[in-house]
Amino acid sequence: MFKASLRSHLTLWFGGLSLLTLLSVGFYVGHIATEQMKQASGNALLNTARAAATLLGEQLRERQLEVYLLSRAPHLERGDLDNPAILKSMQLRTQARAEYAWMGVTDAEGNVRQAVNDLLVGQSVQKRPWFQIGLRRQYTGDPHEAVLLAKLLPGLPNGEPLRFIDFAAPVHNAEGQVIGVLGAHAHWSWVTRIVESAAFSHKNSAPDIQALIVDHDGKVLYPEALMGQELAMTDSILPGWTAANGYLTSMVTVPTPSGTALSWSIAIRQPLETALQPARMLQYELLILGVFAAIVFGLVAYYLALYLSRPIEQLARSAKQVQNNQAGAQFQLQHPVLEIAQLGQSIDAMTQSLLGKERELQEANASLEATVAQRTAALTEANAELLSLATHDGLTGVYNRRRFDEKITEYSLLSRRTGRPFALLLIDADHFKRINDSHGHAVGDEVLQQLATLIQNSVRSTDFVARYGGEEFAVLLPEVAQPDTPEVVAEKIRTAVAEAQFPGVGNVTVSIGLGLADPADNNHTALIKRADQQLYQAKAAGRNQVAFHAH
Ligand code: GH3
Ligand code: MG
Ligand code: MG
Repeated sequence: MFKASLRSHLTLWFGGLSLLTLLSVGFYVGHIATEQMKQASGNALLNTARAAATLLGEQLRERQLEVYLLSRAPHLERGDLDNPAILKSMQLRTQARAEYAWMGVTDAEGNVRQAVNDLLVGQSVQKRPWFQIGLRRQYTGDPHEAVLLAKLLPGLPNGEPLRFIDFAAPVHNAEGQVIGVLGAHAHWSWVTRIVESAAFSHKNSAPDIQALIVDHDGKVLYPEALMGQELAMTDSILPGWTAANGYLTSMVTVPTPSGTALSWSIAIRQPLETALQPARMLQYELLILGVFAAIVFGLVAYYLALYLSRPIEQLARSAKQVQNNQAGAQFQLQHPVLEIAQLGQSIDAMTQSLLGKERELQEANASLEATVAQRTAALTEANAELLSLATHDGLTGVYNRRRFDEKITEYSLLSRRTGRPFALLLIDADHFKRINDSHGHAVGDEVLQQLATLIQNSVRSTDFVARYGGEEFAVLLPEVAQPDTPEVVAEKIRTAVAEAQFPGVGNVTVSIGLGLADPADNNHTALIKRADQQLYQAKAAGRNQVAFHAH
């Protein structure tokens, strides 16, 4: 598992959370601002469109009315299509209104009878829609390129084709019969100027806006650059606004002059980019603010975490030291944060108590070890003593009979295997009964002790001395070679005893029987028997002498 310090955890969480919060707030606020901006801009555009449409509607109505009023002139009602007063009226109109490119009167067959500047007089306009519809009712038509007048009028400075919109009204005689049509062509540029001036002079007009005139099919009539393009959402938004295709577009139907089939709409649009610019700016500002705030929060969190985590990290380090039995572990007991101070105090107390327990344990261990050592020593001593007791004679200190039996068995086995002989001396105090009788049993004991010492001092350390019975001793000699042959050793013992002074007793003698081990012996009994026989011989021969079987 990934492990990071408390510091990193806190910093990441704080920074991340604040970033998340501020970013979501930023996005949300930005979204609301965008929507409100859209609403406000859409409404502003709608007002502009309304103003333009209303103005255009009024202007169109006025021109239509003018044509209508002219068609109702008294001369015309009288059927006098060629009356100069009519021409005069028409000339006055066209002079007063620069938008009129042409104005004239036709008869019912479509022949132009009179016209301002005599343009088209005598020609037939029978095929023109304004004439055909104008025979039946008042007419205001969609813009079209000049057909007959194109050659007669000066072109536009920008090279665009001459375009007109037509106004027409039927001319009736007094009986109500249609005797002709009064028609007028107005420059299309007049219409577009009205729309533009309305759109751009509006006090609330927004930057980058574009004014469009759209016909009833949704096809753009103006501006020239977009002509023929379709503005998709005509019906769905009329009157209103929509945000689509990168534009915020408002659209209002132009109120058409009564009795005509004209159906235009004014669309005012603005690139969404421009319309929503302030909201975007706000959003960017909020995002930048969010990032800054996250950095600031992260830093604050880092220092806060440092403040909180440092003592905890110190605690962790010290706890580790305690765990590793290292010296110098220190716990912070004071900290402004209550829990951290408590933690430090608790761990300190716990450590002290643990260390105390460990010390007690060590002391207990040490004393236990001392006791065990003491007891072991005593036991070893006791064992040694026991061993000594088991193998030695209590009175004289030399080996006892039990040990002698073991030793002679051992020597016999060894001798039979190696074929090397060994010797046995049996030593018996002479007339010992008398010593006991004359000096007491205790003195007899002392004599036995001195005898043992004399014998022990007369042999080599490798020789084996044991108390064989009451006042009888046995010596095993593993070496029988010259110069210390068994006879020599036996004689040495006898002499040592005989020459010694026994306190309170005087002289004491011993008789010694000597036996040699024979490899042919089945067991050591034969050897003992031989030595015993020699001892008997020595006694019989007068005591204080060594007897042995000479080969
Ligand atoms: P000999 O061997 O010369 O024929 O005469 P003796 O007097 O030594 O004869 P015997 O072997 O019959 O007597 C041995 C005596 O040694 C008998 C006993 O009272 C005495 N004796 C045996 N063991 C001890 C002992 O441990 N202490 C004392 N003080 N006397 C003992
Ligand atoms: Mg005896
Ligand atoms: Mg004796």
